[in-house]
Amino acid sequence: MKQVLQNCTICPRKCGIDRTKSAGYCGASDKIEVSKVMLHHWEEPCISGTGKNRGSGAVFFTHCPLGCVYCQNRDISRRSCAGTVYTVCGLAEVFLGLQRDGAFNINLVSPTQYTPQIIEAVRIAKSEGLTLPVVWNTGGYELPETVELLRGTVDVFLTDFKYASPETAKLYSAAEDYPATAAQSLAKMYELTGACEFDDAGMMTRGIIVRHLILPGHRADSAAVLRKIAETVPVENIRLSLMAQYTPEFLPEDPVEKYKKIRRRITSFEYSAVLDESERLGFEGYSQERTSATKKYTPDF
Ligand code: SF4
Repeated sequence: MKQVLQNCTICPRKCGIDRTKSAGYCGASDKIEVSKVMLHHWEEPCISGTGKNRGSGAVFFTHCPLGCVYCQNRDISRRSCAGTVYTVCGLAEVFLGLQRDGAFNINLVSPTQYTPQIIEAVRIAKSEGLTLPVVWNTGGYELPETVELLRGTVDVFLTDFKYASPETAKLYSAAEDYPATAAQSLAKMYELTGACEFDDAGMMTRGIIVRHLILPGHRADSAAVLRKIAETVPVENIRLSLMAQYTPEFLPEDPVEKYKKIRRRITSFEYSAVLDESERLGFEGYSQERTSATKKYTPDF
């Protein structure tokens, strides 16, 4: 593990940095940093459940390789953020604690930069009695070879597919290669999980949910994203989660012009157009009403 972190190429940024000495593009060093552990009630119903007292066992990791300008988790994702440091064994104990608290699953939020440590922590937790499905909750900016490492560790991929246009990906996430990379990693995820499986209570135990956040002024790109997903994996075997919760409140004030197009919420027309395209393509899944475009659904970090 140390060797991997001494020349880090875990994500598509491929910094090659020695994380035992300094942090990479994502802001992560060789220390595992966690910003919040909670029972999360606001994920998709097959992940969080619908009961009052249970939820998804969310572990919000600090930092992120993507760094989208509109990130609603910017308080924990930016390079300058600091989380609570855990050892690998300590992280395994967090997973077991969530299981004792009644979580439906272990929901690893923004985990990519800690992939080797998480694989080891899950292995230890399983040896000590962890039986819950493990959910990899990612921005979708993953290398297929890193996804391959998750074989036998992760049961459910809850992955974003944000952009189809390299220009849009470059503008908002400084990741021109996002569309091609996200498609390749999605194909690999499907190779690992196959079709979705659910338990008797309707909770997902295996499979893929692809999330897409609809951005204002970008409905054509959203439609292209849906078509790309449909070209990559069988739509009937995954679930799509269309998210209408975009809010410009997290955008930096400067530069005003550069992000002008997304300094508003999406319209009903935009939402309906993307929803229509998802239905035309035969997706099943979840759609979020535009009334969810509020900070209410952002955990307090
Ligand atoms: S995980 Fe972080 S340090 Fe490693 S390649 Fe990606 S951005 Fe760089």
